Amino acid sequence: MVIRRIEDVPAPTKSRGFVPTMGALHEGHLSLIRASKRENEETVVSVFVNPTQFGPNEDFAKYPRMLERDTELAIGAGADWIFAPTPEEMYPRKTTFVRVSEVTETYEGASRPGHFDGVATVVLKLFNIVRPHRAYFGQKDLQQCAVIRRMVEDLNVPLKLSIEPTLREADGLAMSSRNAYLSPQERATAPLIYATLIELRDRLRDGADSAALEDARRRLSDSGFVLDYLDLLDSGTMQPTKEVGERAAIAVAARLGSTRLIDNLLLYPNAF
Ligand code: AMP
Repeated sequence: MVIRRIEDVPAPTKSRGFVPTMGALHEGHLSLIRASKRENEETVVSVFVNPTQFGPNEDFAKYPRMLERDTELAIGAGADWIFAPTPEEMYPRKTTFVRVSEVTETYEGASRPGHFDGVATVVLKLFNIVRPHRAYFGQKDLQQCAVIRRMVEDLNVPLKLSIEPTLREADGLAMSSRNAYLSPQERATAPLIYATLIELRDRLRDGADSAALEDARRRLSDSGFVLDYLDLLDSGTMQPTKEVGERAAIAVAARLGSTRLIDNLLLYPNAF
């Protein structure tokens, strides 16, 4: 069942898990739905391409939309119903924004001004509309996880967050709805991101210094990627670090042709 209007969303009567998405569902999304299904009596998936998180020159208009297929996949993975509002339903007028501090300043926040204001705003709206007990996010979007976590803590949002591991294609490329934009040649190059992250992680764990970061950046640039950033950071604050500590992660954003890909690895698993 697809619910399109906010007034039709039923109040929770049992433990409710929630998976917010922008649709074009793939196995990564389905793994979040399955995690919710395991841990809750009811699972709700939202499908909403959120205009407020796209910059003026980003892919809002061409972002893939396929609600019928998404509904089938979500229900097949264990969702009880789908919330798929229109932009007018969510934003009937100029909206109030939620602005999360510190963790939004760097990386994706710096490359995509306003992006996390849009993300935090829509996620808080969805939380208030759906009223879940638990909400599920993918580690693939590491900074988004940090932003939502900070928002939930700072604004005392009454729910529990679960961060789920990144699902990958067989060659290591992190699953993403945007992978569909890659030409066959770009698709063949794209797995180099993960290979580079793995090698860098191992070198940093073995005590390498920032020269290893430079090597990794060069390797990607030499292969045709245009790097936004590739850095070692603290996944709690999303600030750059030199410490290979418990919360350390390496994160990358790189363009291949006109497609922007992101990925990350924690230096130590289960640190998140
Ligand atoms: P999106 O539809 O891209 O906004 O993603 C919806 C949710 O799915 C977010 O919490 C993402 O982090 C998560 N997600 C996207 N790709 C993956 C992946 N490859 N593995 C696990 N979760 C993912």
